[in-house]
Amino acid sequence: MKTIAVPPVPAALNPLSPKAIATLAEVYDEASHAITLYFSRPNLSDKAHRGEALTFEHLIKTARDRYETHDGSPGLSKDLTRILNMEPEFRGSPRRFHAVFACKDRDIWQVVDLPTCGDLSGLQVSQRFQMVPLLRALEATTPCCVALVERGKARVFLVRGTDALALPLLPTADLAVEADDSRVGWSDHIDGSVRERTKAYFKSLALDLHLMMLDLSCGQLVVGCREDVWSELEPQLVKAGMTEMMSGRFHLTNLDMTTDEIAKATKPVVREKLRQQYVHFWELIRERPEISAVGVDAVLRRLEAGSVQTLFLGDLTGKDVTACSRCQSWWNVSTQCPACGSRQSHLMSAEEFLARRALAIGARIIAPDMPTAALFGETGALLRY
Ligand SMILES: [Zn+2]
Repeated sequence: MKTIAVPPVPAALNPLSPKAIATLAEVYDEASHAITLYFSRPNLSDKAHRGEALTFEHLIKTARDRYETHDGSPGLSKDLTRILNMEPEFRGSPRRFHAVFACKDRDIWQVVDLPTCGDLSGLQVSQRFQMVPLLRALEATTPCCVALVERGKARVFLVRGTDALALPLLPTADLAVEADDSRVGWSDHIDGSVRERTKAYFKSLALDLHLMMLDLSCGQLVVGCREDVWSELEPQLVKAGMTEMMSGRFHLTNLDMTTDEIAKATKPVVREKLRQQYVHFWELIRERPEISAVGVDAVLRRLEAGSVQTLFLGDLTGKDVTACSRCQSWWNVSTQCPACGSRQSHLMSAEEFLARRALAIGARIIAPDMPTAALFGETGALLRY
């Protein structure tokens, strides 16, 4: 079978496996020394950098004042110092999404750097890590293959958020047919031959792209090309079995686009594709009430039963659920924990609780960025049965 050598994907393009995310979500530190830091600033200018440093130092100082003074934990203190020391690094790449998950007592130190930015800064010291902002950032940076295509030539990239990585060059084809006999010129025969060779080129390109994407485990293809090229390429992509992978396209003015230009042109296409997926999810929820749940309580009940296949985390700002202080089970209406009988409970952020339960049972999570999440319902789930 034909293969195309694909370079190893840099860590920044593939920062966390689903297993690593589920493991972070499972962490429970009784002493409340689990630190989550999120830091992402979209509107940074060079002049604002000093202000950002102050914001960052302020976050750490507030945490110190609040937790260290009455706690005195050396582990917590070391982690906060280590995070504070990362400030220059964050400042050096401001328009990115930074997160740190740290718990010295449990030997956990995980730094995440994603090529996207939201307006987000916060530091939480708690029994558990805060997962949902990470899930939303990962969804916004789902990798896709981008192919810039002309007749006889193509360039392919792996794009994730604002990062674009050039992939190996695919074979080119010289499609010009020279007329040996100038008296004949461009006869029908020669036109036909060019058409055939163009078709053969697009066919082989589609197969190469398909192989490359399977190799990368990448499920989304965005094409940059002219209208006339698309009309010839699209049928070949369909024939190569790529209908499900085709996420959309943009108009190509120049095959020599820079990686920045490519990432910028890809962004609206990916956003639109995600929006269509969200719309489709809620259509299914409405059409199939027998295999769906809507609202925090109904979805939690299904999560506890393990029957959720896909969970949608919409805008759940300010929504809390009651959890058992002893065993962390969900309390519905009773005054006593249904799992362990404890009478002590506390309030937890609903979106964090839902996400953790979904990760624990291996359900797929749809986590749109916040502006998009607000356009849809609070939460809904499609069920396995
Ligand atoms: Zn309990």
